[in-house]
Amino acid sequence: MHAAMDDQLLENVGIKPNRYRLELLRFLKCSRDHATAETIYQTLSGKYPDISFATVYNNLNLFYKQHLVRRFFTSERETRYDWAGVPHHHFICQKCSSVLDLPPESVTLTVDPSLERTVRIQGAETLIYGVCARCEPIDDPQ
Ligand SMILES: [Zn+2]
Ligand SMILES: [Zn+2]
Repeated sequence: MHAAMDDQLLENVGIKPNRYRLELLRFLKCSRDHATAETIYQTLSGKYPDISFATVYNNLNLFYKQHLVRRFFTSERETRYDWAGVPHHHFICQKCSSVLDLPPESVTLTVDPSLERTVRIQGAETLIYGVCARCEPIDDPQ
């Protein structure tokens, strides 16, 4: 991971880089856990004992406003954060709240042509709800 690139990434969206912001950005880019603000705070405070929860939370919101992170809710009303650099869909288990990344091509959306008279669609990110195979084993049809 090149620190200079991360600096540039923040500057491009008008965010002044500092060590906490760069560390937060690195965490989000590397993490596949769809972490809560609390979990991110706990991880970062292991390295930076002087970081506050408010710093983590406020910077997550700042990143969200600048479209650097995605934010969504699980069935337990937890707010989860995810790096927005790689487009994908999410599956959320209603029982255990686990979150799975789904590749863009795994979901096909059909848009009513009348919609295209009022909006210009550039992409889609979908939250799909259900129950994961760990919570309810799925029989193999074959
Ligand atoms: Zn589950
Ligand atoms: Zn994700």
